[in-house]
Amino acid sequence: MIIAVDLDDVLSATTPAFIDYYNTIRKTDFRLEDFHTYYWHNIVGEARDDVFRLVHDFYFSPDFAPKPVIGAIEGIKKLAQSHSLHIVTSRQEEFADITHKWVNNHFPTLFQKVHIANHAHWATQGTSRTKKEICQEIGAEVLIEDNLDYIEECADLGIRSILLDRPWNKSKTPKSTTRAYSWNDIITNLA
Ligand SMILES: [Mg+2]
Repeated sequence: MIIAVDLDDVLSATTPAFIDYYNTIRKTDFRLEDFHTYYWHNIVGEARDDVFRLVHDFYFSPDFAPKPVIGAIEGIKKLAQSHSLHIVTSRQEEFADITHKWVNNHFPTLFQKVHIANHAHWATQGTSRTKKEICQEIGAEVLIEDNLDYIEECADLGIRSILLDRPWNKSKTPKSTTRAYSWNDIITNLA
């Protein structure tokens, strides 16, 4: 089976790492539970562009080293034994090198390819594609994802999704979506 796997907050604990970075820079005390939406500027009470700039600085900071999500390495190793795995990330093209480096470091040889969608909303260069287009192109049958918007767009293609539970995705899940609370849950669901 061909499985598309999201990167941020599914394989890489990126938001917790960003929150640590933000708290250090701004001397604040935000926690993951506070991040109940993708509109981070509303949570922290800053202009959107200022938060985008901080996210950019975070990716290029010498300390950029998000940890793998708990259970992700073991889970991916298991899935790779019998499935074809692709990373499909909305990250921007400018982060491509950093992204390939991180994936090679933590998940060497386990994925067929890393697809950088370069999400149009944030992209500053290059061509943007939707996750739906990429999933169609690779023939994904399952998507492992934490963002309900992407799950909904891929559901149009008949792709079954597993939603990894996060503070920002507590609303009702669409049909053909299973909510998982850990990588163990994901593996059980796909067994
Ligand atoms: Mg994600």
